[in-house]
Amino acid sequence: MAGGVLLDMDGVIYHGSELIDGASELIHELLDREIPFRFLTNNSQRNRRDIATKLQRFGLPIEEKHVYTCAMATARFLARQKPGGTAFVIGEGGLMTALHHNGFSIVDKDPDYVVVGEGRMLSFEQLETALRMILAGARLIATNMDPNCPTERGLRPGCGATVAMLEAASGMKAFSVGKPSPVMLSDACRDLGLPLEQVVMVGDTMATDILGAVQLGLRSILVLTGSTRIEDLTQFAYKPDVVVDSIAKIDLELLENLWDVEADGLTRELQAGVA
Ligand SMILES: [Mg+2]
Repeated sequence: MAGGVLLDMDGVIYHGSELIDGASELIHELLDREIPFRFLTNNSQRNRRDIATKLQRFGLPIEEKHVYTCAMATARFLARQKPGGTAFVIGEGGLMTALHHNGFSIVDKDPDYVVVGEGRMLSFEQLETALRMILAGARLIATNMDPNCPTERGLRPGCGATVAMLEAASGMKAFSVGKPSPVMLSDACRDLGLPLEQVVMVGDTMATDILGAVQLGLRSILVLTGSTRIEDLTQFAYKPDVVVDSIAKIDLELLENLWDVEADGLTRELQAGVA
């Protein structure tokens, strides 16, 4: 009996336009064995079809259902908080589509929420409008708090940087849905149709992928092909269950050791305590 896998993308399966060795083999193995998995991204710019297409261009036979974005998590969260609500959006297509898909309307006046995602079109005018809306009572929602994002030319400011500006100006604190929030990770597990004990998170970033897994009680594997070097681990008070050089070192045997298909959550905690 098998569990499932949540995979971060950037730094785990690719760098920019280059696929990381071993990614294709693992994905094919998961597909062949019908092991459920989702690619998780904190980038809200693109929708799941765009991301599936990007992965298909790497030669991976990925479908839309394999992709779960923080834009989707944010839209589902808001639909639960306020069905049929309204949002002023600082962000792009992926976020707008997800909000529409979940029954939200995008408005320029009196929104229930100001929702901030990734994008390259940010203007001071948008920030000014958003600030006034927040001061008038709109709630500030972040798709994620990543301070920056890797690109092929280096880092660019991330959603978290934009949100920080609005927080400073308004004195209000945003609620963030993307990794490491348990809102996004538990939603992704629900999407897999598996209990938390049977899901392994694979990521390259301690503060999002691994922290989220630790907080939710998911087993985790850190790969060293992205933002974390082995010596960085001393800076964190939590750690992943397993550290590997790259995705090439992840096989079914390793995953099977981490999936707890027998025990319930409490039993596993007790076992961990004894170990
Ligand atoms: Mg990453």
